[in-house]
Amino acid sequence: MAKKATGAPKSSSRIKSARPATKPGPQPEAQLAEYRRKRDFTQTAEPEGGRSRAGRKLAFVIQKHAASHLHYDLRLELDGVMKSWAVPKGPSLDPAVKRLAMQVEDHPIEYNTFEGTIPHGEYGGGTVMLWDRGTYDYGGTVPDSEEGLRRGYEKGDFKFVLNGKRLQGSWALVRMRGDRPGKPQWLLIKHRDEYAMPASDVAADHQTSVSTGRTMDEIAGGDSRIWHSNQSEKKSGAVEERHKRLMQSARSNKKTSSR
Ligand code: MN
Repeated sequence: MAKKATGAPKSSSRIKSARPATKPGPQPEAQLAEYRRKRDFTQTAEPEGGRSRAGRKLAFVIQKHAASHLHYDLRLELDGVMKSWAVPKGPSLDPAVKRLAMQVEDHPIEYNTFEGTIPHGEYGGGTVMLWDRGTYDYGGTVPDSEEGLRRGYEKGDFKFVLNGKRLQGSWALVRMRGDRPGKPQWLLIKHRDEYAMPASDVAADHQTSVSTGRTMDEIAGGDSRIWHSNQSEKKSGAVEERHKRLMQSARSNKKTSSR
């Protein structure tokens, strides 16, 4: 297991000394700047972010998001934030199917518990369903798994093993060449293993929240929930009040405008 590292050629040891495995990764505060810039937290019930990991396993979540275009947001925790990809068609358990995954800004870890409605007119306005969640592990061969994840992410060959309710087993995100700068496009691919299911349609098979059992319509008509918010009670109460008012006006507008 440790054999690989000791037999490493010169070039890779030079890379290693420039980036020691013990060096902490990028800091969440800087990584979340774009996420925060796009949102008005007095108007949306989404979290602001900044909670630390404290020895948990790495988290993953998939949120089905009926924004201007329906998509599935795949989020994988790395270095204190959720690396995020919008997957228009959602995941597939068929190893022959490669699903386009457009990378979007890093999200806070607290976002993993968000299910509800982002007010119309806010960034990403629309209904969000918790479609799957769980933990994940590194799926490659680098002995230090977090370093392996970091390197895989930087190289555009991100191998991981999901332990969710609906998705399990080995997967890869592979960055496409020639994508536009700042808009990285990846492919989400299921590896062949005992969880692969050729010719299946897992996104269509599950139409309810993995957390609350609600459909998209039921979520759209109900309350937004954040289970582990770091906001003070006073503040989240105020957000909820505003949110309720927005929801009421959204409902009364429903007949005239869809989305
Ligand atoms: Mn989204």
